[in-house]
Amino acid sequence: MNIAEILQVTKNTLFSFELLPPLKGGNIETIYKTIDPLIEFNPININVTYHRQEVIYKKHDNGLLEPRTVRKRPGTVAISAAIKYKYKLRVVPHIICGGFTKEETENALIDLHFLGIHNLLVVRGDVPKNEKEFVPEPDGHVHAVDLVKQIMKMNKGKYIDEELLHSMATSFSVGVAGYPEKHSESPNLESDLYHLKQKVDAGADYIVTQMFFDNKKYFDFVKSCRNYGINVPIVPGLKPVSVKNHITLLPKTFNIDLPQELAMEIRKCKDNKDARQVGVEWAIEQSKELIAANVPALHFYTMGKSDNIRSIAKAVF
Ligand code: FAD
Repeated sequence: MNIAEILQVTKNTLFSFELLPPLKGGNIETIYKTIDPLIEFNPININVTYHRQEVIYKKHDNGLLEPRTVRKRPGTVAISAAIKYKYKLRVVPHIICGGFTKEETENALIDLHFLGIHNLLVVRGDVPKNEKEFVPEPDGHVHAVDLVKQIMKMNKGKYIDEELLHSMATSFSVGVAGYPEKHSESPNLESDLYHLKQKVDAGADYIVTQMFFDNKKYFDFVKSCRNYGINVPIVPGLKPVSVKNHITLLPKTFNIDLPQELAMEIRKCKDNKDARQVGVEWAIEQSKELIAANVPALHFYTMGKSDNIRSIAKAVF
């Protein structure tokens, strides 16, 4: 069964989490160290995010700007394969539009299909830190919906070059991103729902939400989606606050609000250790309420560290 099928039939709330590939120079052991403490909670899947390399522009004396790559992360495809074969679990690589041509995407998908990895999370990709807006590659996709369409074509055996020999049909199941508090670039929630429905109509099987700290935002979002005719499973994404400056960083980076009570608790913390504990306690309460509402799964953003996620999982699963 693929993830979407499991989410459709599960009677209990399931557990999943996502990892960031380590920066270049790290190794696979750092990934295993994040995963090992979470294995006893039977994750239905482990996601591996994708990040385009970071480029800065160096100005020369003659005024010309030279692009220089300053930060790279090793390939999501390779990490996904290592996890799949070590833990015998479903692994979900994130596939992004940013930084890739359609052909490069097709090549990555061929590799994933070959490796027996059939679940994907498809997103557009973040705007790079030093750029103001998302700019696709000259022959790349502008929006996640276009990438979903490319994958659905491959599921029908249709590749970019129709003359391609041995072009067998793939069997990818696709999740996409949803935003209970609206995507930062969207003029309003209705417009976001319209584009979310387009992704589902194009073939996405389920939705994973952006993090939120007030469950009401998630419940309202699910209701709005259902009213809009979006009927696929909607998995809540949770990230515990883990350092004091999350109080300003998370709202700015992810276009979300922190409830007053949580913000006050973080403000009172002496240090990051205290803030991490507040984050764990808040996430436990959020998780308990979501489980009581029978959500199909809880998906945790680990950001590469799992001690806090372990404490939460231990308290609720
Ligand atoms: P889209 O669906 O393309 O939407 C982006 C914006 O455009 C929205 O405002 C939407 O309303 C609008 N829009 C959509 N379609 C159209 C259209 N056809 N015409 C006009 N407007 C349109 N980022 C990474 O770089 N790597 C990751 O691994 C990663 N994983 C993520 C996982 C989850 C669960 C989530 C919630 C986010 C993740 N992100 C990741 C961040 C994501 O890439 C950003 O939020 C990005 O800005 C938007 O991605 P999207 O897939 O929602 O884009």
